[in-house]
Amino acid sequence: MIRKSAGFTCFICEGDGQHSLGVFNGKHIDAYRTTVCADCYRANETGWAPHHVPKIMAHLQNEGLPVPARKPGGWLPLDPN
Ligand SMILES: [Zn+2]
Repeated sequence: MIRKSAGFTCFICEGDGQHSLGVFNGKHIDAYRTTVCADCYRANETGWAPHHVPKIMAHLQNEGLPVPARKPGGWLPLDPN
């Protein structure tokens, strides 16, 4: 398996991050121990869209991470601090 040293794969859309001109177009989210692209980060700023939640929950379980407290309305927070 070939790994690009500076690259990442977005956890949500599974697209490759853009690294032209040395710009790291990804956001690492510590609470989820993963990296998403800037587009997915922006698209879910108010909380993870419900269709992403099953994938996120499975990931948290695999990593042994706690599930962050839900926001009002039941939204899973994008980047809890
Ligand atoms: Zn993405």
